[in-house]
Amino acid sequence: MKISKIEPFILHVPVTRGAISDSTHDLTHWGAPGVVIHTDSGLCGYGYTGTHAHLPTDRLIVNCISETYGPLLVGEEPHNVIELWEKLFHFPPAQWVGRSGITQLALSAVDIALWDLKAKAAGLPLWKFLGGSAGTKITAYNTDGGWLNWSSQELIDSMRRQVEEGYRGVKLKVGSPDAYRDLERIEAVRKTVGPRIKLMVDANGRWDLPTAISFGQKLSDYDVFWFEEPIWYDDLAGHAALARAVKTPIALGEQLYGLDDFRDFITAGAVHFVQPDAVRLAGVTEWWRVADLALAHHLPVVPHIGDMMQVHLHLAIAHPACKLLEYIPWLRECFEEPATVRDGWFIIPETPGAGTTLRSAALERYNVM
Ligand code: MG
Repeated sequence: MKISKIEPFILHVPVTRGAISDSTHDLTHWGAPGVVIHTDSGLCGYGYTGTHAHLPTDRLIVNCISETYGPLLVGEEPHNVIELWEKLFHFPPAQWVGRSGITQLALSAVDIALWDLKAKAAGLPLWKFLGGSAGTKITAYNTDGGWLNWSSQELIDSMRRQVEEGYRGVKLKVGSPDAYRDLERIEAVRKTVGPRIKLMVDANGRWDLPTAISFGQKLSDYDVFWFEEPIWYDDLAGHAALARAVKTPIALGEQLYGLDDFRDFITAGAVHFVQPDAVRLAGVTEWWRVADLALAHHLPVVPHIGDMMQVHLHLAIAHPACKLLEYIPWLRECFEEPATVRDGWFIIPETPGAGTTLRSAALERYNVM
């Protein structure tokens, strides 16, 4: 099997509940710039990254895929995923301009498409190809029900609905200019969902260290399961200081680009719940290394899902450090086999590949290239 053609795409898909905000981002659409890798066997691999659907930025990513990485891929044997990853990651002109950022997001899309192809060629869903078991239980927690731009009543109604639907965990966005408003909302949500539901809070990197410390010290009053991205993403020393100052565990990783970053945060004791995202980490290849690193430190891996669950469901089933996965339904209609939750558990996918195969109707409807 040889790679015969690289076909880029950019999907912009509306988020399901209208415009949503956290402390840092305002979204109306989720972006999926990506690639279909064609082969002379007729099999195709699908891979993409995740963005805020800003077309000029998304074009930079697909240009990197098609103009920089494409010529390095055509004619190659797609089974050699790790060798190809090394070739692209260490390609000197690309590495010179970025070991993080756009080059990593572009490599993520390529690497995911290659793993999709490899699993399809084996006739297996990726989780099974990677050694996972069909009996694995992955708990879903819902992130699409606690946005910062909602009123307290909308928030409470949404949280009540999620618990009725069977979710065992819910996430609430915090990081407001007024931290007391956030505490009032946490108290109201805890009352609504009861004592047994996991409640996570996420500040999306908004606060400074003193605010995060004083806010964080109050979280244990509400049995908050984790405090996510409390301060600036790259502030290793700040997160380590925060982790020593508060009882609530720290979660982060969605903004980290590589294995070196995770090694430094983990060894500094700056993170407890490790949240790697294959769409930022240059794909499945690097994601697996990060998950193994976390496992070696006996830390749970709870992937961030910039792919809107599809690949990460397979990875969560296969990797022993994963038991819990985020649920956000925005891209579900785009896929041949969308990730699905029933009674609070993810259903184990059955179709060969990484779960990334797009329905042709989705490409027709949402491709903005
Ligand atoms: Mg987050």
